[in-house]
Amino acid sequence: MRNKILFAILSFLFLFMVHSGLFGQEYYLKLKERDRNLINEHITRVVSIHKIEGENIYAFANEEELAKIRAYGYAPELLKHPSDTYRNLDMATNIDQMADWDRYPTYEVYRAMMKRFEAQFPELCRLDSIGTTIKGRKLYVLKITSQVDELLPKPEMFYTSSIHGNETTGFVLMLRLADHLLQNYGSDSRVTKMLNESVIYLNPAANPDGTYKSGNHTVAGATRGNANGKDMNRNFPDPRVGTYPSGPHQPETIAMMEFAQSKNLSLSANFHDGAELINYPWDAWVSSERKHADHNWFEAISIQWADQVHSNSPQGYFFPGYTHGGDWYVVAGGRQDYMNYWHHCREVTLELHDNFLTATELLPSFWNYQKESLLSYIEWLQTGVSGTVMNEAGVPLEARITVLNHDKDESWVRSNPYHGHYLRMLEPGTWQLEFSAFGYVPQVLEVEVTDIDSSQTLNVILKKAVTTSIAGRVYEFGTNKPLKDVEVSLKNTPHIALTDSSGWFQMDSVSIGNFELRIAKEGFITSLNEVELDTTQQIIELFLFPGDPESFEEGLTPGFLTETNPWTIVNDVSYDGLSSLKSGEISHNRTSTVSIPLKIAARGEISFALKTSSEASYDFLKFYINGEEKAAWSGETDWTVATFAVDTGMQVFEWKYIKDQADTGGSDAAWIDQIVFPQSFQQVSFEILSSSSGEPVNEALIQFDSKSQLTDQAGIFVFSEVLRGTKIYEVSKDGFQNVVDTLVVSFVNVFNKVYLEEIPTYSIMFTVIGSGLPVKDAKIEIYDNILWTDNEGTATTHGLFARNYEYIISAEGYNPYTGVIDLKADTQLVVMLSPVLTEDPAEVGVFWKAFPNPFSDQLHLMFKPDSSGPLLIEVFDPAGKRVFEINEDGMESHGSSLVLNGLDQLQKGIYFLRILAGKEILVQKVVKVE
Ligand SMILES: [Zn+2]
Repeated sequence: MRNKILFAILSFLFLFMVHSGLFGQEYYLKLKERDRNLINEHITRVVSIHKIEGENIYAFANEEELAKIRAYGYAPELLKHPSDTYRNLDMATNIDQMADWDRYPTYEVYRAMMKRFEAQFPELCRLDSIGTTIKGRKLYVLKITSQVDELLPKPEMFYTSSIHGNETTGFVLMLRLADHLLQNYGSDSRVTKMLNESVIYLNPAANPDGTYKSGNHTVAGATRGNANGKDMNRNFPDPRVGTYPSGPHQPETIAMMEFAQSKNLSLSANFHDGAELINYPWDAWVSSERKHADHNWFEAISIQWADQVHSNSPQGYFFPGYTHGGDWYVVAGGRQDYMNYWHHCREVTLELHDNFLTATELLPSFWNYQKESLLSYIEWLQTGVSGTVMNEAGVPLEARITVLNHDKDESWVRSNPYHGHYLRMLEPGTWQLEFSAFGYVPQVLEVEVTDIDSSQTLNVILKKAVTTSIAGRVYEFGTNKPLKDVEVSLKNTPHIALTDSSGWFQMDSVSIGNFELRIAKEGFITSLNEVELDTTQQIIELFLFPGDPESFEEGLTPGFLTETNPWTIVNDVSYDGLSSLKSGEISHNRTSTVSIPLKIAARGEISFALKTSSEASYDFLKFYINGEEKAAWSGETDWTVATFAVDTGMQVFEWKYIKDQADTGGSDAAWIDQIVFPQSFQQVSFEILSSSSGEPVNEALIQFDSKSQLTDQAGIFVFSEVLRGTKIYEVSKDGFQNVVDTLVVSFVNVFNKVYLEEIPTYSIMFTVIGSGLPVKDAKIEIYDNILWTDNEGTATTHGLFARNYEYIISAEGYNPYTGVIDLKADTQLVVMLSPVLTEDPAEVGVFWKAFPNPFSDQLHLMFKPDSSGPLLIEVFDPAGKRVFEINEDGMESHGSSLVLNGLDQLQKGIYFLRILAGKEILVQKVVKVE
């Protein structure tokens, strides 16, 4: 006894030393938390939860994760690592020692066993290594099926164990299952049928670096994590959290992802220890939030698994037996959800044993408990609706099989392109199955599933879709220049074309139907266009807007909103140019947000460059559209460009740098740069005002954005949907100088005040004189106006611009008069009209007559002897200006005529003499010559 106890103590010490040894320690801990939200949102992201009992959470953590959970404010109690508890871990050092399945194989024996399966059963078994671990160990997968080298139309399934290296029950069970299947093929009808009708992949050790942490010779000291201390069942892309829920993918994770991608797995299970139950999707969400489309089916097969285990095991084993994953506790980055979401598989998680590193003497019991369930699970492959999808020529097709009004969250399945086989396991019901393949006419077939374990064959032949061609030309918007090397593609099809130098593209043999045409060229705004293709060839013209990337070179562009913990422009880091936008400096639990709301004009894409330097997996840059998280980055991310589709309508683009409760990493920041937004509308308002009075100018004509609009009473017009860009506008209004200018429309509504300068106007006051008297009702035509003189012979016109005007004055009894004025100021004009002379003036009572006319120096004035002498003679020029005056002193009498002196001073031209003689006033036109 004593010796045995001493041995146990020594073993414990030895194992403990191994644990705290070479590559960082793995801790097992207990902490208290009752809040399910905190557990599902935070704790599960920091430590690797093993189980939850009431408020007690048992979990594994590496050094970093332990520090982290402490920083979160928890005081975890460190427990003895399960691997440090003494138990029998008998190792088989040769294959023969595995005969009773009550030992763990050394790594070398494991390899030898895997190789021997293949060697002993070459018709049934192929060994493949799907990758290599960090420490150089192999990730082996056995393929087990009849005619193993043939690609036959059979459904495929996958069992994998011990992704947590210290959860080893499944490791030996997988080896034993392989042996059972291979040994019994041909003798046991159940196994024979299984291998004839299905392909089984077995991966006994998914984390050999964790299992053989202490060396190839022992599983003692096995760890949950891999050689990097990473829990790989938190390391897969997650449908809720994103691609990197716990930092970069580990080599083992990548190998598993590549394997899944290369197969068409219908069913799988991942084996663990630490609890006793079957766990079905989703792990990412609690069932009240989101259920898998096949939730009922998953529950039914889980109940079957648990029931069969209960029938084959002692009372008390395998409880609670089954659970929806998220309802147990939410996991981010688990393999199960990854397989179901990204590979349309049906994967469950099996917890075989409440404890870790199962003692070797217990291993045969677990086989007995689980064997029937392990075999029955494989037999689900023989249920549901299955068959092949081919074309009319018998060529297998990779088709998508969707259960209409049922499938969601990527739950559709696909047919295997090598032989066209598909399998859609379904709960009972009447279902519409849609079979669709690129280039073929989709087919919807109704099936009736009577029982969950019933099966039916439905072979489908898809007809080639009628094809057409689509061609067109792509131009630059604005310049209408054809664009070369534009990438034109039909989304979700392989069709892609580049435009030639004339902007021309063509795609032939395109299925008819509705598609989205994507037009992209660097330096331009990517556009997405709905196209409806029918049998007639379509030729379309497309215009690309020049890209207007926002590169933050001139400060924070109006439109971006950032308030508390604002993002700021920095000049030391940039993707293009000199500047970029950097998240604000924040402390723990804080967020720095920058956002911009835009009314998107047409479906398109947003792309932007980003960089992060933060605490990996905990402090994130997250991008949202309308509050929906689109992507997240953390750790060291060098400049990378991200692109997301954007719908029309109001969209809010938001970048958040979010820090968790504790710790920082790197520069503790995120940067964004060179954002290319889809085309957006802004509102542009014009208010037109007079520059002199400041008053609104109504009915001013605004030509802008290919439209012409008049301002209202308040001098305003609003253009509601204006695309971004630099635009010319012109405002015109009578009496004002035209204004032509450019306006830059970017991300905010524009309110543009335009002041118009009034053009000065002048008035002309006409005084029309005829026969020495004011002429009433003389008609004056000037520009557009017609004026009539009043009793004083005057008429005034206003509002004339500075320029030359011709005017015509006419009045009854007078010769029409035409004059020209170069208007530069308010002006008074006196115009003398000459009477129409029909007879000799003497005979019609005109007493006075000047001669000679024209004259050069002397002018004589003849008069009737009985008339009274003149008192005054005034001389006017044609503009009506009085230029000379002669009184009696300036006149010499020569019989019946007078000689007028002083007229030799006048320049040559036309003059009017206004003769006042007694009560008579006479006007006579005279012409002076040299
Ligand atoms: Zn596990």
